[in-house]
Amino acid sequence: MDLPSFTEEHRIFRRALRQFVEEELNPNVDEWEAQGRFPKDVFKRLGELGALGIRYPQEYGGAGSDIWMTVVFCEEMGRCRSRGLTMGILVHTDMSSPYLAKYGSEELKRKYLPAMIRGEKVGAIVLTEPHTGSDLVGMRTTARREGDHYVLNGSKVFITNALQADLFFVAAKTAPERGKRGISMFLVERDFPGFVIEPMKKKLGMHASDTGELTFQNTPVPAENLIGEENQGFYYVMDSLQNERFVASVAMTSSAQQALEDAIEYAKDRELFGRKLIEFQLTRYKIARMQTQLEAARQLTYYAAQLYDQGQDWTLAVSMCKAFCADVANYVADECLQLHGGYGYIEEYDIARFYRDIRLWKIGGGTTEVMWELIAKKMGL
Ligand SMILES: Cc1cc2nc3c(=O)[nH]c(=O)nc-3n(C[C@H](O)[C@H](O)[C@H](O)COP(=O)(O)OP(=O)(O)OC[C@H]3O[C@@H](n4cnc5c(N)ncnc54)[C@H](O)[C@@H]3O)c2cc1C
Repeated sequence: MDLPSFTEEHRIFRRALRQFVEEELNPNVDEWEAQGRFPKDVFKRLGELGALGIRYPQEYGGAGSDIWMTVVFCEEMGRCRSRGLTMGILVHTDMSSPYLAKYGSEELKRKYLPAMIRGEKVGAIVLTEPHTGSDLVGMRTTARREGDHYVLNGSKVFITNALQADLFFVAAKTAPERGKRGISMFLVERDFPGFVIEPMKKKLGMHASDTGELTFQNTPVPAENLIGEENQGFYYVMDSLQNERFVASVAMTSSAQQALEDAIEYAKDRELFGRKLIEFQLTRYKIARMQTQLEAARQLTYYAAQLYDQGQDWTLAVSMCKAFCADVANYVADECLQLHGGYGYIEEYDIARFYRDIRLWKIGGGTTEVMWELIAKKMGL
């Protein structure tokens, strides 16, 4: 099933990305997963392919393209055998740099956006703290204005790309007494004084993605590095999270589709009780059911893309995508692992890694419970 929204231009981009993922990424992912990170050059290669500024204006080096190109990008990156790498790339393209592109001052955009689009400077999004994740307003990090700069104090956890990022988009309280109306976003550079980055190791999955813990101790941040307006950060985050959840939904659905394709191949090959596994009625039912769920998940992402394309509010659709696609992808992971029998439990097959990786998407970028809560609110409940 394809939508008319995909043109020849989208298809050319898809072919180029698929080739890149298959030839330049997949042969190396075992090594990168073992190392717990992937080379920074991957960003530069994607920059050369025009993949890091898909919807950004051409005057900053972007492609000035549409949401469907982003869909193609996420679907193809979702087929990388390291979902951790995919997450690191999406954090750069669709979860951190949008703060700069959408709300940053002209001066900040000219200074940093072209380098981000070329993959020379890598981005990270810095929201979660040791005591609070879902409850953003509960954050404790503060930014106090002192003359021509702010002084940042606090700590953050679970920050993707932390070990290699150059630019950190940090949420902090500028007016702690004002709740969500007292949060601002800042662009913090890696070498700012008092900024300490430490690795968080031993994650369940997403091994090639590096994760860090950040501490700010009286870190001076130039006033011009404030993103947009002071005390508007909460609203920027709520807006930007929609894009973050959308791209994650597209990528995880594509990854799950690939897991199903792998399981079908395995079932065609595996013999038991004198027959191929694929010939059992129960196997055929399981596969058909998974494909139906995946198609529903994919069409939901396409529906959200259509709303965005038409300039309509996509919040409800995106919340549904994030919750539904994560459920479907995790269900597919479980069923496909089961189809592999004992071999599904061995790292030799990608399904074992996929099973570990995909679990994150019920948590990261807003948990499934938070999505259900948002949906209920939108329903007027
Ligand atoms: C590998 C990884 C990478 C990450 N990358 C980043 C990153 O780059 N930047 C960043 O800022 N953060 C990142 N995160 C953090 C992630 O976004 C948070 O973990 C997530 O938002 C949940 O927050 P929490 O862990 O504090 O859980 P909590 O908010 O403490 O949630 C605990 C439980 O309470 C549930 N809950 C929450 N609200 C409700 C409710 N209203 N009703 C019922 N139950 C509820 C949750 O669903 C969850 O089950 C990452 C996390 C991981 C694991």
